Amino acid sequence: MTTDPHLDWPFFEPHHKVLAAHLDRWASTEMTAAHGKDVDKICSGLVRQLGEKGWLKYAVGGTQYGASAEVIDTRSICLIRETLARHSGLADFAFAMQGLGSGAITLFGTPQQKAKYLPQVVQGSAIAAFALSEADAGSDVAAMQCEARRKGDGYLLNGEKTWISNGGIADFYVVFARTGEAEGSRGITAFIVDSTAPGFAIGERIEVIAPHPLARLTFKNCRIADEQRLGQPGGGFKVAMATLDVFRTSVAAAALGFARRALQEALRRATSRKMFGQVLSDFQLTQAKLAGMATDIDAAALLTYRAAWLRDRGQPVTVEAAMAKMTATETAQRVIDAAVQIAGALGVVSEQTVERLYREIRPLRIYEGATEVQQLIVARGIIQAFRESEPSRA
Ligand SMILES: Cc1cc2nc3c(=O)[nH]c(=O)nc-3n(C[C@H](O)[C@H](O)[C@H](O)COP(=O)(O)OP(=O)(O)OC[C@H]3O[C@@H](n4cnc5c(N)ncnc54)[C@H](O)[C@@H]3O)c2cc1C
Repeated sequence: MTTDPHLDWPFFEPHHKVLAAHLDRWASTEMTAAHGKDVDKICSGLVRQLGEKGWLKYAVGGTQYGASAEVIDTRSICLIRETLARHSGLADFAFAMQGLGSGAITLFGTPQQKAKYLPQVVQGSAIAAFALSEADAGSDVAAMQCEARRKGDGYLLNGEKTWISNGGIADFYVVFARTGEAEGSRGITAFIVDSTAPGFAIGERIEVIAPHPLARLTFKNCRIADEQRLGQPGGGFKVAMATLDVFRTSVAAAALGFARRALQEALRRATSRKMFGQVLSDFQLTQAKLAGMATDIDAAALLTYRAAWLRDRGQPVTVEAAMAKMTATETAQRVIDAAVQIAGALGVVSEQTVERLYREIRPLRIYEGATEVQQLIVARGIIQAFRESEPSRA
């Protein structure tokens, strides 16, 4: 069994160590078709494999629906994402989207909604997606225009969503739309929309630097039954934020996985590449680079697993998760860039591991709250804490 030294950190319990080691072994020996150009086929296949082998049990909550525990264990999803990301960005993506796409159902679904969707998510027989962003409402989510109007005993959904991961292959989408109870963030409601719903269509497929299924969705008088509403009318913003809150720390963990793989590749290359009568790693300039990469990865990992551990203890982690997400994603970008530099020309050859990582890491600094948004969250949190500790200055 692989025993990464960081699994001995006090954040983890013995079962976390077993989970990470088993998954690492499975991903090394049994996971198949995790890379390639036909991303729809690869991602659908990966969801099936992850479901069949039981890894998706960790992506949802509720043992009666097949989950590993009543409540999603943040350290488990972080370890799974870190491990999968070391092996394959698409495998990490497939796992993460099953969790993010069904997270609102785990957190806010009725027993009927949970019974209908969660077992299929766990088995990998239904693919989930989370549709929040619009062309003019990304970081500023509350500016969304997609609307759902009351019609009879249901709703009519009209508008568009874009940058939706799993768009085109998902079986259902958790969609957020304006329902008008109030202005801004308090007038939004969440719905579960099946891909077969009349009036729902894929407007366009979107190609990105690290390809995965991604699309713009259109809704034209798309009828949604009342039973498909998730949470309270007007409570959609809360549903979206609570869902993102569960998974934000796991984005940091995925970045760690990419960074650790890049360091491994850099060490492999630096210790074998002969030049000027020695190998690359004999040069102190290279050693400084490797030392910086290793240290930055551990610093980001400590922030990541601190946030995960605190969350599993039931503590609020808004600031800690933001620190982890921005640090791990920015660190991983720098580490991977250094690995490309160490590889030389080989590092920019299409589909070489470090070239793939170089493309795969980039969106993580943008989605689920760009780095600047995380900076604002941290600043707001520490300023508020300071004012509370010194009320005279408030
Ligand atoms: C690969 C990928 C997959 C995605 N998958 C999904 C998905 O499944 N579901 C979904 O709903 N969305 C998804 N998104 C969308 C993603 O959440 C948005 O791209 C993100 O919220 C940023 O919105 P935006 O792209 O409109 O950028 P904008 O909101 O226009 O922001 C542009 C830039 O402005 C800066 N910025 C933002 N706020 C501030 C500020 N307050 N102060 C200073 N600078 C700021 C940041 O650098 C940011 O990158 C995905 C995006 C990508 C790239």
